[in-house]
Amino acid sequence: MTLPAFDYRRPATLSEALAILADDPQARAFAGGQTLLPTLKQRLARPSVLVDLQDIPDLRGVKVTDTTVEIGAMTRHFITETDPAIRAAIPALSHLASGIAHPQVRHLGTMGGSVANNDPAADYPAAILGLNATIRTTRREIAADDFFTGLFSTALEPGELIVSFRFPIPRRAGYHKFPNEASGHVTVGAFVVDTGAGVRVAVNGAGPCVFRQTDAEARLSAEFSHAALEGFTQDPKGLNNDLHATPAYRAQLAAVAMGRALDMALAA
Ligand SMILES: Cc1cc2nc3c(=O)[nH]c(=O)nc-3n(C[C@H](O)[C@H](O)[C@H](O)COP(=O)(O)OP(=O)(O)OC[C@H]3O[C@@H](n4cnc5c(N)ncnc54)[C@H](O)[C@@H]3O)c2cc1C
Repeated sequence: MTLPAFDYRRPATLSEALAILADDPQARAFAGGQTLLPTLKQRLARPSVLVDLQDIPDLRGVKVTDTTVEIGAMTRHFITETDPAIRAAIPALSHLASGIAHPQVRHLGTMGGSVANNDPAADYPAAILGLNATIRTTRREIAADDFFTGLFSTALEPGELIVSFRFPIPRRAGYHKFPNEASGHVTVGAFVVDTGAGVRVAVNGAGPCVFRQTDAEARLSAEFSHAALEGFTQDPKGLNNDLHATPAYRAQLAAVAMGRALDMALAA
């Protein structure tokens, strides 16, 4: 299928990219095109200009300190999967990246593109929410709890770009997803984090938007063990219902994914 006509710009600086986006409300940021190109092919979007972000140094790079990991928005999944400093600081995050799709997608797809898109079947939103990351944009810093606002929607405003993600390094964390076997996308997943000051549990794929499972968080904060999850059930109300899984099945998968993510955290 042919693509609709559009202009293509490849700015070398963030300010140049922001100026193009500010000038034209139909202009769209372009990271690796892993969502955007299929969207254009299906005529679900008709941007006037694609603003390719790949030459902008401010959107790249990985910085690890004793307490945080900061990852540029244009970081490809392959880098998050393999970077030794990320792997050492937050192994569950590298593990999550290693399970995204296949090598071609992991070499082009970016953390910024994935999180900005907020597909309910995407992996990264669970890591952002579970690890309590801060989203640094061209205008402000947004806490993970305030960022994901619904199905394919976020707190980002028109013309606002994600610059980087800052993750506090947790004491231990784990992630498990039940993938769609065809694409690798998430049918249901869970990210379980012992922050050192409490427990955060994020569930993705199950509902229209990633969410925190506060009942599981309270149980695991009291005792970080499988015993604490005994008798836990996820309410199926409001969960997704599609050809891949019913809400009741997704609820069951959420509980199992949580247990397996906990296994990974306990082994860390
Ligand atoms: C076959 C296939 C299988 C896949 N399987 C998985 C999977 O298993 N798990 C998973 O999580 N994902 C999966 N994906 C999605 C993929 O991982 C990409 O991360 C996702 O599509 C985003 O792609 P991208 O980074 O190239 O962004 P693009 O497609 O270029 O952009 C996506 C959206 O984000 C916006 N955007 C991009 N960068 C920024 C920024 N810095 N600031 C603000 N807005 C921005 C764009 O304007 C656009 O609206 C799959 C994709 C394909 C094609």
